[in-house]
Amino acid sequence: MRLLLAMMKHETNTFSPVPTPLQRFRDWGLHEGDAVVKAYRGTNRPLAAYLELADEIGAEIVTPIAAEGMPSGPVAPEAYSYLTGKILDALATQGPFDAALLDLHGAMVPEGMVDGEGPLLQRMREIAPGLPIGVTFDMHGNMTDAIMENATVVVGYKTYPHVDMYKAGKQCGRIMLRALRGEVRPVISWGQAGILAQTLRMGSDEEPMQGAIAACVAEESRVGILAASIFGGFPMADIPDAGLSMVVVSDGDKPTGDAARDRLLRYARDTRTDWFHIHQPLEAAVARAKALSDGPVVLLDHADNVGSGGTSDVMTVIAEVLRQDLQGVIMAAVWDPVAVQAMQKAGVGATVTLDLGGKSPMPSIGFPAKPLTLTGRVRRLSDGEWTVRGPMYTGSKVTAGPTAVFETGGMQIVVTSLHHEPWDAGIFTHIGIDPAHSRYILLKSRVHYRAGFRPFEQHRITLDGDGVTTSDNTRLSYARLKPGIYPFN
Ligand SMILES: [Zn+2]
Repeated sequence: MRLLLAMMKHETNTFSPVPTPLQRFRDWGLHEGDAVVKAYRGTNRPLAAYLELADEIGAEIVTPIAAEGMPSGPVAPEAYSYLTGKILDALATQGPFDAALLDLHGAMVPEGMVDGEGPLLQRMREIAPGLPIGVTFDMHGNMTDAIMENATVVVGYKTYPHVDMYKAGKQCGRIMLRALRGEVRPVISWGQAGILAQTLRMGSDEEPMQGAIAACVAEESRVGILAASIFGGFPMADIPDAGLSMVVVSDGDKPTGDAARDRLLRYARDTRTDWFHIHQPLEAAVARAKALSDGPVVLLDHADNVGSGGTSDVMTVIAEVLRQDLQGVIMAAVWDPVAVQAMQKAGVGATVTLDLGGKSPMPSIGFPAKPLTLTGRVRRLSDGEWTVRGPMYTGSKVTAGPTAVFETGGMQIVVTSLHHEPWDAGIFTHIGIDPAHSRYILLKSRVHYRAGFRPFEQHRITLDGDGVTTSDNTRLSYARLKPGIYPFN
């Protein structure tokens, strides 16, 4: 048995001004050949599950590439052709393979295209007609016909924060192995709900996502259903296939699969109004936080979330929290490599005045680059590297690039050189800050922060600031969505 194992992940925010060259993948994680095995074995990732299953059956494996880039704007053509080229070359030159097991995101938009994953699967099938292809996709994948026509098994995560990536890989891999042994015959039934749901409303421990996942689990317990997944979709992508979809894999029983899909789509449509965030004025929300007498209080600057393509240097929310003079605030993270360099030069303990953040103009939302001039003290410096001990990406070595802690007013701000969404407490602990002993934890995150910060959270307040991950649809101009999609119909 020979298996091709690969990973290619990017969530593309078509409104984001952050470029996505190949370097963006190298910054977060790009491994080739044997280095893939070394980097992913034993982690909480789909690839780890694939590697384990391959060991279990004594399969020979080829691992051409495993690459993930932090979410950002459309993927540069040379990056897309490099990543897909590695997979396609391996397929063409190191085959034949019995199957391919892939870990893809499902929301990649290369420049000049509307779908990155579908065309990859199409080309794989052109090289190896009939090749069984099993894929795990992120819950925020935008599913397409090209994906479904060329995949054999599709499985999505059932948690957000995504703490079940390994489990999804195991489920997908097991179905594929059973299919290769002739025990089952996977058939896909899928459909789009016609809803451009907002990621801020997709946390799996809250409605409506909790109910949607329970409905998928219920479908999986029915005879003849191998897998049922909800893809909330990724709404910051102005493409025809953006939005919520349901994917069911049945055991050779299309009518049963179709019926399950239809029940799931009905659930999504019945709850359609629940997938949207209701906005509040920033000043009042910060005042509400200030009035709370205990903590830690998690404050979410969700409109500038790297994990969805944010620039992580919008200062609107930080400025308001400083203006209202909240005390005991720890903040992660402002992307500003220039400020980090200035703090490295000044050294720990020095008082510096910085034009912090505001390096990225955002023409798509008409928001200029607006730094905030602040005077404060350099508290700490680090290389920004740690190994994740929290529940998401567990065991993975991550890096935020050279990092500094800047203290101003009642706030300690973690300033990074690479874009980083704070979903793991390591962003603070690696640089000597203990979140448990803070009053406020201000995060540029939406839902993934729950993986690392739930244990500390006594209260949560969502702050509606500026940025290209805004949940305010009036600030985004879509041109390519399918006509009639909710809430634009
Ligand atoms: Zn996701």
